[in-house]
Amino acid sequence: SPVIELRQLRKVYANGVVALDGVDLSVREGEILGVLGRSGAGKSTLLRCVNLLERPTSGTVTVDGRELSALGRGELRAARQRIGMIHQHFALLSSRTVAGNAAFPLEIAGVPRDQRAARVRELLELVGLADKAAAVPAQLSGGQKQRVGIARALAAGPSVLLSDEATSALDPATTQSILALLRRLNTELGLTILLITHEMQVVKSICDSVAIMSDGRIEEAGRITDLIATP
Ligand code: ADP
Ligand code: ADP
Repeated sequence: SPVIELRQLRKVYANGVVALDGVDLSVREGEILGVLGRSGAGKSTLLRCVNLLERPTSGTVTVDGRELSALGRGELRAARQRIGMIHQHFALLSSRTVAGNAAFPLEIAGVPRDQRAARVRELLELVGLADKAAAVPAQLSGGQKQRVGIARALAAGPSVLLSDEATSALDPATTQSILALLRRLNTELGLTILLITHEMQVVKSICDSVAIMSDGRIEEAGRITDLIATP
């Protein structure tokens, strides 16, 4: 059953640019789906519509069976706890420690301090950063920063992870280690992952399915083995 379902999604920006031109996309539970396309294709807009960081002009967004596009502010805030997101440039709070960054969504959600501390330890173990809890982002490598981003994204126990070019700022070896971590989280936690990328190699490395995007439309979508010939 689909965990994410986009129906006839359109996004027209205030300047008249049609970024999404009728997108239908389903992401099944437990799958890693990659949206592949060139710069300007509409990938980022698509991703930001899934958690309603961007309001679609029309169409529907359904996550975990709830139509987010129909929810009010309070309900939307609760529903967003089910959706984690990681970013190309990590988007960490530079004045906070690694632990403080991972704890941030829990603070927003009002989780008590002692529970936060236990959860943060668990999260940092999960991403292999248990020994960096007290470090600040400036002391970390790019790969370590993205691990903090992943820990933070998972803090509230989401069923879905959205990845916005999460490895684009990383070297090839670090990229592979982050992709391996995402694959492990997918397997161990049953996490459904929707990622956007302009790199075929990322899709080949970890995706089960791929949607190829161009000019605000999905050109093709399907199992990766059917769409991309692998040597
Ligand atoms: P991608 O992530 O594939 O590079 P984007 O979703 O960022 O694509 O952009 C799709 C199109 O929408 C592009 O033409 C881009 O210039 C335009 N666009 C993106 N964000 C905005 C915005 N906030 N206002 C106006 N146009 C935008
Ligand atoms: P910040 O310095 O960013 O405000 P805090 O130090 O307040 O962050 O820590 C945020 C959360 O992480 C708290 O729940 C805290 O208990 C926990 N925490 C802080 N430092 C560590 C650490 N070294 N190891 C494990 N958990 C920690």
